[in-house]
Amino acid sequence: MSEHRAPAPDPRDFLSVDADLDETERDVRDAVRAFAARELAPHVADWFEAGTLPDPRGLAEAFGALGVLGMHLEGYGCGGSNAVAYGVACRELEAVDSGLRSFVSVQGSLAMAAIHKYGSEEQKQEWLPPMAAGRAIGCFGLTEPDSGSDPGSMRSRARRDGSDWVLDGTKMWITNGSVADVAVVWAATDEGIRGFAVPADTPGFTANVVHRKLSLRASITSELVLEGVRLPADAVLPGSRGLGSPLSCLNEARYGIVWGAAGAARACYEAALEYAGTREQFGRPLAGFQLTQRKLADMVVDVNHAGLTALRIGRLKDRGLAHHNHVSFGKFANVAAAQRVAAASRSVHGANGITLEYPVMRHMVNLETVATYEGTEEIHALSIGQAVTGVSAFR
Ligand SMILES: Cc1cc2nc3c(=O)[nH]c(=O)nc-3n(C[C@H](O)[C@H](O)[C@H](O)COP(=O)(O)OP(=O)(O)OC[C@H]3O[C@@H](n4cnc5c(N)ncnc54)[C@H](O)[C@@H]3O)c2cc1C
Repeated sequence: MSEHRAPAPDPRDFLSVDADLDETERDVRDAVRAFAARELAPHVADWFEAGTLPDPRGLAEAFGALGVLGMHLEGYGCGGSNAVAYGVACRELEAVDSGLRSFVSVQGSLAMAAIHKYGSEEQKQEWLPPMAAGRAIGCFGLTEPDSGSDPGSMRSRARRDGSDWVLDGTKMWITNGSVADVAVVWAATDEGIRGFAVPADTPGFTANVVHRKLSLRASITSELVLEGVRLPADAVLPGSRGLGSPLSCLNEARYGIVWGAAGAARACYEAALEYAGTREQFGRPLAGFQLTQRKLADMVVDVNHAGLTALRIGRLKDRGLAHHNHVSFGKFANVAAAQRVAAASRSVHGANGITLEYPVMRHMVNLETVATYEGTEEIHALSIGQAVTGVSAFR
């Protein structure tokens, strides 16, 4: 077919990225998109304004019924989907709000993935089925007040006392920490860094909500305090050894961010397209001004680049070929693209753009968190720099 007879690009999927999804992946997209439109989008501005999730347990159960909690993990009540289907689910959730995608990522790719990868059979049987169903909530405690980008410097300690373990330390910025039933906590031991499944009702474990956030407000963020938390010998995740264990979980969650950022970018672009088509100044829609069209052209390029990057890394992952540097590339590129799109969309919206009546500024400030957690923009730049030069510039 000559290019003159090819169908014109769809402004909402300019490069037809979704045409390369298979039927199952499209079904996941449609189911998550419909759920998000029905259950999340009508409420998210209120949740964001309130600075919390009013019913995290109900939300967890709804996500469980939808099948997105640990959906890419095998067995134990998990969905066993491929990486692309999981990514598409992240994209559709983050098109509504980064905080809601974070809920699903932390549960599935951090807490559940850590237990799935490194836990004993008993730990998997105990925690994974209720977590997949959303009847139990998990969190992942790696970051500390004085240990962020350099988690190897953590101060949390786990020491042996007879056959027990005793944990002391503070974890900071922990998503879902104060509503979790189980915290996967990383602590230094005489054998290196190890992970522990800490039931939230263990004496000595407390979680305090972080207030006054200006980003990711439709998400619960907490400080975890562990003071002489005594755990039985079997609380350690037996397969966890060294910093590589939490880092490999972070790589799973980052993969979801690669897709999620593409969703946030798409939502901001679509909002700008709609607004520019209806808002009139100087007697014509904003969409008719050259400067607006330049913004929309830049946005549609960023959105489609992000979509292609996510799909490419997803396909590599499904073939077992996604190196962690590929995921760094995706996080670095797609979050930056989403930030550019959100900022441009906000400007197209004029004064309306600063309100919660429109999604753009909410996305814009959420993306500050997305650029920070799971490895900051700078840390991923250094990873990519190391991958292409062979020289580490981390310290
Ligand atoms: C809302 C929210 C939710 C979060 N959820 C979780 C969670 O569930 N679990 C969890 O464990 N953590 C979580 N985090 C923490 C997050 O992962 C950390 O904030 C992140 O790793 C960065 O650490 P930091 O904030 O201590 O910044 P720092 O590491 O202190 O970095 C500050 C600045 O210095 C830069 N920098 C640091 N080192 C270098 C270097 N070598 N070269 C150049 N620049 C450098 C950074 O890029 C950054 O710009 C969350 C954070 C937020 C904001």
